[in-house]
Amino acid sequence: MSALRRYLPVFHDVRGARVLVIGAGAVGARKIEALLAGGARVTVVAKEFSPVVEERAAAGDLTIHRGTFHPDQMREVELVFVATPDRALNRRVSAEARRRRVPVNVADSPEECTFLLPAVVRGEEFTAAISTSGRHPGAAKALREFLEDHRGEISVRLERGRRRKRIAARPGKVYIVGAGPGDPDLLTVRALGLLRSADAVIYDYLVPREILSLAPAKAARICFARRERTAGHGAVLKQNAIHEAMVRLARAGKSVVRLKSGDPLVFGRGGEEAEHLSREGIPFEIVPGITAAMGCAAAAVLPLTHRERSSSVTFVAGHETDEKGGSAVGWSLLPKGGTLAIYMGVARVAAIAGELAGAGFPLDTPFAIVENGSRPEQRVVRGILSDMPRIAVESGIRSPAILFVGRTAASLPYEITGETSDEPVAQGG
Ligand code: SAH
Repeated sequence: MSALRRYLPVFHDVRGARVLVIGAGAVGARKIEALLAGGARVTVVAKEFSPVVEERAAAGDLTIHRGTFHPDQMREVELVFVATPDRALNRRVSAEARRRRVPVNVADSPEECTFLLPAVVRGEEFTAAISTSGRHPGAAKALREFLEDHRGEISVRLERGRRRKRIAARPGKVYIVGAGPGDPDLLTVRALGLLRSADAVIYDYLVPREILSLAPAKAARICFARRERTAGHGAVLKQNAIHEAMVRLARAGKSVVRLKSGDPLVFGRGGEEAEHLSREGIPFEIVPGITAAMGCAAAAVLPLTHRERSSSVTFVAGHETDEKGGSAVGWSLLPKGGTLAIYMGVARVAAIAGELAGAGFPLDTPFAIVENGSRPEQRVVRGILSDMPRIAVESGIRSPAILFVGRTAASLPYEITGETSDEPVAQGG
């Protein structure tokens, strides 16, 4: 019989249960906190107490006995935890508990335990408990870290489990799918369903690993871009390679997900890919995604439009392909009473600030730069237009990042500006 089989994994309800804890150092304190969180009635016996435990006792959350262990303390107790550095004492408490048939756990001594404490990962809707029968704490830690790294993916899968209807991708078809700004929770339900049943995924480098991992393990994963910026001849070759791969895989009867960051039709060449597929007679469908402007605005609490501050929102390319030889954006034509969302602009912040100032944007117009919007490493920096190049350099902002310019880009709450408002004003009297 394997050692693991000896242990029945159970979740014990400790609400209202009398629990005895011997030892109140760091390890004991952690167990005490977990027990209190579950609503247990905790008694702690120790010679010395860590400050958190003292505070809990002072607040009346638990009972403490300063001194030595006595078997009588085990009367009517449901569970015993032992966490002292004194091995002889630990053994004695364990033997007494076993004699009384009270389940006992001794920290770091599986042989003294009648139950083990698993490594625990908690999500919003689940608790995962991991055990190696106390033999390989390293393995439990590795599993726990793995689950923690994949928390986002797990919640996406749980969400998918709630869906009754499976989305079946059609063979021989290309789905041009927006993956959103990076957080897997911001995928559309359709994008998730198609990804889950894809035979092949052709993705852009901005699409994070957590999202790719939602495709079946056996699906082919193809990426043509390198992390460096591709432009000119390289970019054309890359785009041709993508076109050829889509057509070849679809003709081979695969369901192909062409996965792009954000929305496929916003600075994503989704249009060119659709043109190519329609020329080649390949069936395709476009699945929209949350574009960076929207994802990053939400993350930075930046209203793209605002009754008093912005009547329009404009998506602008801050950098264009080298073939065009410069910017095709008519900077002086951009609306000044609105919000600009400038994509692909971080490498040219100084030039863009110059273009905007030259176009008549006031130098004190607020800006915000959102780097890695919706991802764990997200950063937001703010300031006014005249300081934008300096602040961008000093804060070391890197791609992917989006620039917002306009009065909505200031941080909340907006200062009172004496503007008129059509809210009803209470009459004094
Ligand atoms: N189709 C994409 C845009 C692709 S162009 C969309 O709709 O969002 C790439 C540019 O998008 C980057 O240079 C950056 O400006 C922006 N971008 C994409 N993801 C981003 C993110 N998570 N945070 C900030 N900017 C992002």
